This record gives sequence, C-alpha cells and structure tokens, in this order.
Amino acid sequence: APPTKVTIIGSGNWGTAIAKIVGHNVRRRERFDNELRLFVYEEMVDGKKLSEIINETHENVKYLPGVRLPDNVVAVPDIRASVKDSDILVFVIPHQFVKNICGQLKGAVKSTAIGLSLIKGVDINETGLVLISSIIEDALAIPVSVLMGANLANEVAQEKFCETTIGCKDKDVGVMLKEMCQAPYFRVAVVDEVEAVELCGALKNVIAVAAGITDGLDQGDNTKAAVIRLGLMEMIKFIELFYPGCSTETFLESCGIADLVTTCYGGRNRRLGEAFVRTGKSFVQLERELMNGQKLQGPTTAAEVYEMLKNKGMEDQFPLFTAIHRISSEGMPAKELIKCLMHHPEHM
Ligand code: NAD
Ligand code: 13P
Ligand code: CA
Repeated sequence: APPTKVTIIGSGNWGTAIAKIVGHNVRRRERFDNELRLFVYEEMVDGKKLSEIINETHENVKYLPGVRLPDNVVAVPDIRASVKDSDILVFVIPHQFVKNICGQLKGAVKSTAIGLSLIKGVDINETGLVLISSIIEDALAIPVSVLMGANLANEVAQEKFCETTIGCKDKDVGVMLKEMCQAPYFRVAVVDEVEAVELCGALKNVIAVAAGITDGLDQGDNTKAAVIRLGLMEMIKFIELFYPGCSTETFLESCGIADLVTTCYGGRNRRLGEAFVRTGKSFVQLERELMNGQKLQGPTTAAEVYEMLKNKGMEDQFPLFTAIHRISSEGMPAKELIKCLMHHPEHM
C-alpha cells in the first residue's frame, strides 16, 4: 500500500506542538509518507507571511516561539491544497472556527480519509448538544477519532513527560493513530468511549476558569482542590446526562482527571480567570490583550453548556458550570463563586 499521508489542520500553540511529534514520527515510520503538511491560517508577522517564516526557519515564531520543527513539516496556507490526497486529517483549531473550516474543505477531502480531532469545545444546534468531532464527521463524511489529555502545548513542545488519551471506536485505526502520535515523552492510551473523552476535554476548560477565579480571589490550594473535585463531579454528571453509560475508567485517563488538574494550575483559561478578577476587564478584552492571537475556550464553552442546561431546566444541578457562565458573561460578581461552592449540592 502507498504510504499514509497526514495533514495537520491548524498551527496555533497546540497544532504546532503536535506537528513536531507527528513530523518526527511520519519520517521515522515506513507506513507514513515522510512529508507532513501543516495548514497555516495565514497572517503577517513583522511584515512577512507566517507560512513562509515557518518554511524558511522551521519555527512558528508567533504561536510556539523557540521550538524547532522537523524539516519535513511543510506549512501550507491554502486549506484545500493542504488536504489533497491526505489519508489522515488532524484537526487542531479553536472550536469556534470549525464549521467555517469544514465548509471550506467540502469536496476537497479524500473519500477514504479519517479524522483525528484535538479540538476542545462543544457546539449546540436545534437538536441539542453537538460534539466537535460530529460536526467534522457530518460535514466531510469521514469517521473522526479524538485525542485529549493533560497536554499544555509549551510543555509538550519542550519534551517534558506527559500522557494523553485517544478515543477511537476502531481498533486498527487506534493502533495507527497511536503510532502516529506517541513519543517517549508523550505516552498514548487508546480507549473506545470517544464521546466521554471529547467532553472531558471540553468541560475541563470551564472548570479551569473557575480555578483561575479562585486564584484572583486570593483563595488557597484547598479551595482549588475543591473546585477540581466538584468540577469533576459536574463533568461526570453532565456526560452521563448526554451520553449515559460511560465507565469510570475513562475519567481516570489523562483526558479526565489529569487534564483537569494541569489546566486548573497551568492553563490559559486559569490565567485569564485570575486576570478577570484582578483587572475587572472582560474575557474578550483580556484575550485580545494577553494572548497574542491565541484563543480562550472556557468562557464560550461555559455559555454553550449553560444553554444546554437551561433548556433542560437543570442549572441548579450544575452550579459550578452555571456560575462560571454567569460570572464570565452575565456580570455576576466573581465572589459569588465561593457561595456557589459553599452551597454545592454535593454537600447537601
Ligand atoms: P491557539 O489558541 O494558539 O489559537 C490560535 C490559532 O487560531 C492560530 O493558528 C490562528 O491562526 C488560528 N485562527 C485565528 N483565526 C482563525 C480563523 N478565522 N479560522 C481558522 N483559524 C484561525 O490554538 P491551539 O492552542 O492550537 O488550540 C486549538 C485547540 O487545541 C483548542 O480547542 C484548544 O482547546 C486545544 N488544546 C490546546 C492546548 C494548548 O496547550 N494550547 C492543549 C490541548 C488542546
Ligand atoms: P488552556 O487552553 O487553558 O491553556 O488548556 C490547554 C489544555 O487543554 C491542556 O491540556
Ligand atoms: Ca515515513
């Protein structure tokens, strides 16, 4: 069989870090084509096209400065050209852009291609909650697996040890995706509860905003541990509500408890949660001022989760999710979060 061609769609902080690992793996392994194409949403950086900078210097100077990419990673600014003849499409863009990107990809994707989504977020439509992987599946008519874990991109790029979780329904596909992604410092476990893996990745961003808010309120490590614990309870309950029957083991994988912990300590959502309290500025403004083009997923995910809960009349049963939406988007004072913790139904 001809070698499997891979394209990474998205070259932000995480997209670039995963391109380093996958780039190394596709060159080293026979079954994969040596070239790894990286779709770059084009922008000018110091008067030069970012895609050209990446191809000339092998560094994404804007989203992952200081990290050298393998030479076989080729930046492609044309979305449709980037996926031509590709067998595996790795999606790693902020979740708000996924519909637009899929729209642009229609008709350009090989019919036998498969997808792997690293996107942490959710969407809603008339019928209810929609997984980002389902949006891609439906738009492009390809099966989509997911990869989620405790993977702060900068740490992964510096080859600091971590674990991750692939959610995949097909055993052989799972083996291939693991071969594509695993590194000595990036250990992959494959499980089959795709929906739970993906929702863990999305929901922990909401809890990380809460963790940041407690930091901004000068609360302690015990408080943050309570936010993590109560947050995990709400995550499990929410996932059980929409995808009943998931096993506890999935929440004990890297995509569950581990990603929740790392994001509540070291993530962008935590950092901006703290800044939100300390500065009184909105998340939109803070994202613009502090993130240099990177995107925050927590507050938007909180709004989407809140809408789902409101439709079901279940806000009271998910007080942390609800409070984060009300604080981040509806002007509820941040200190109300502490009251919400005190009155959490887990203590009643
Ligand atoms: P990022 O936050 O660095 O986002 C910026 C990217 O969005 C840039 O590549 C930019 O060019 C692109 N962009 C801006 N406007 C766009 C548009 N209109 N259409 C398409 N692209 C546009 O991105 P990231 O950190 O790679 O995050 C992508 C996903 O990966 C998110 O869902 C995030 O939650 C998840 N994730 C991130 C990390 C991390 O540590 N950064 C770790 C694990 C998962
Ligand atoms: P942040 O988007 O909060 O930085 O979280 C990154 C992440 O998903 C780590 O696994
Ligand atoms: Ca190869």
